[in-house]
Amino acid sequence: MHWTEDALKQIEKAPAFIRGMAKRAVEKEVAKSGREEVTEADVRAAYEKYIKFAVNSGEGKEQEKTSKIAIVRCDTVAEVCPGIACFKAFNHRKLAFEQYGEKAEIIGFFTCGGCPGRRVPRLVEKLIPHGLDVVHLSSCMMLDDDYPRCPHKNQIKKVIEKKGIRVIEGTHH
Ligand code: SF4
Repeated sequence: MHWTEDALKQIEKAPAFIRGMAKRAVEKEVAKSGREEVTEADVRAAYEKYIKFAVNSGEGKEQEKTSKIAIVRCDTVAEVCPGIACFKAFNHRKLAFEQYGEKAEIIGFFTCGGCPGRRVPRLVEKLIPHGLDVVHLSSCMMLDDDYPRCPHKNQIKKVIEKKGIRVIEGTHH
């Protein structure tokens, strides 16, 4: 879906904690009408229909509360990556971090410890008393690029979810 510049400026006015949800609502409406471009008028129309209600009712505050994040990344890729793309995406609340509000914090950023992700459970456990509520698996674990996709991703995900922590696949793709 393509967004015009004016449409993007308009959606930026929505409070950060509902911006992700608002974008999806606008795109859904545009797709329903069989178009592939979002205009400023579309954003205004969606504002009246959904966003105003969400702001007034406090919908989306759940994301605002979900604010303690850890990122797990590939131990092998960490040899060549300082993590800049993950932090950029978080600092600007883009891509996989679009859903978070101003209060969100990264409280852990660590590698899996090498195949098959041996230290993930231990480190997640350490963060739980500090309020951890969501773990992002870094995009380097998902993408088949200069390095192969993580073959242990599903197992790592399962181990974290078993501890009652939500897992989101990806950070900056
Ligand atoms: S378990 Fe996955 S993320 Fe960890 S080093 Fe192996 S391939 Fe990389």
